[in-house]
Amino acid sequence: MDVTDHAEEIASDLGVDKEEVESDLRDLLEYSVPIGEAKQSVRRKHGGGGGGSSPSPDTVDVGGVTTDHGNVTVTARVLSAGTRTIRYQGDDITIREGELADGTGSISYTAWQDFGFEPGDSLTIGNAGVREWDGRPELNLNESTTVAIAEETVAVDRPIGGDRDLIDIEAGDRGRNVEVRVLEVDEKTISGRDGETDILEGVLGDATARLPFTDWNPRPELQAGADLRVEDVYVREFRGVPSINLTEFSTVAPLSDAVSVADDAPRLSVAEAVGSGGMFDVEVVGNVLEIRDGSGLIERCPECGRVVQGGQCRSHGAVDAEDDLRVKAILDDGTDTVTVVLDDELTAEVYGGGLADALSAAQEAMDKEVVADAIADRLVGRAYRVRGNLSVDDYGANLDATEFEVADDDPAAGARAALAEVAE
Ligand SMILES: [Zn+2]
Repeated sequence: MDVTDHAEEIASDLGVDKEEVESDLRDLLEYSVPIGEAKQSVRRKHGGGGGGSSPSPDTVDVGGVTTDHGNVTVTARVLSAGTRTIRYQGDDITIREGELADGTGSISYTAWQDFGFEPGDSLTIGNAGVREWDGRPELNLNESTTVAIAEETVAVDRPIGGDRDLIDIEAGDRGRNVEVRVLEVDEKTISGRDGETDILEGVLGDATARLPFTDWNPRPELQAGADLRVEDVYVREFRGVPSINLTEFSTVAPLSDAVSVADDAPRLSVAEAVGSGGMFDVEVVGNVLEIRDGSGLIERCPECGRVVQGGQCRSHGAVDAEDDLRVKAILDDGTDTVTVVLDDELTAEVYGGGLADALSAAQEAMDKEVVADAIADRLVGRAYRVRGNLSVDDYGANLDATEFEVADDDPAAGARAALAEVAE
């Protein structure tokens, strides 16, 4: 249907002038009002009434919902239902969110009140609002929405319920359940919107992957080594990797069987790893092409930990900078490159000495660069196996190394070719 068709529909429904309706519609569309909303607004203006007497929403397949719809009616299966409290216009409100699906597709939803449905339920959802989120349509279930059990079970070809392996967890997931071992856990105090709050941060593992977590409502069951079933978590992106969040609504129960945790990180090519958009724990093998500026003996701001130049922090101005060791090495495996970042401990290992040694070497040479030069002499042109946490952003890919060892297996010859090219 084009604008003229929509105008004709409204005009004949309400018995009003079609030209006028069409001109009003076009005005609204020019301001990027979605067609569904524009139609409702024009109906109201021409005496169609708002609220209760608004037109019945389109009944559509889940796969057919677009951001052009104002309101829709769908019959769908509930795939997941997570619970969360958010602050909305100054109030804390509890929302439920997850995914719905039918045979044609799936869609995220937010329910602003508890309609009482659970994963697996087949529902006819009447008059759900459509909003755009991240370029895609989402359903808003609000006080004007009706929810009824559907007459027939809706068949779907997607997993019902929130159970997932860690490798399948993605940022944006809601209402997920995981069976995991707590690998690391630390207590932290952060200053949140309601003052100081205690939280737990750490790492969870299963046979498929490891992921960081935050428990916003610290509970004693989350101890290192505990095997747990954790239900109703949500997932957000933190430093480029999915992070599991436990809220007051999450439940934690001990498992009687031990969770097996993979010792090794998945080994990927650099291109595959970078292409994933960020991974918490990954292993790559490649040749060190060069050592970047800002390696060796560096200075950090004592407030924020950022590297400073000439004692000036970008955020804190003139500071009493602290000496530190770091390496930023460009690693190439023939598929792509990544900047590997070594912390002070790993840097001391590859340098063959700690901060005190580096400082005295720099003093003796009256040049800080001797430290970076010594590290470059050792690393450049050699193959390394690197395990760590990969983040990818507009500035490139960084792999914060947790392990950095000379590779016993020979990586792609392509890297050596690349090295030769650089040398030419
Ligand atoms: Zn600072």
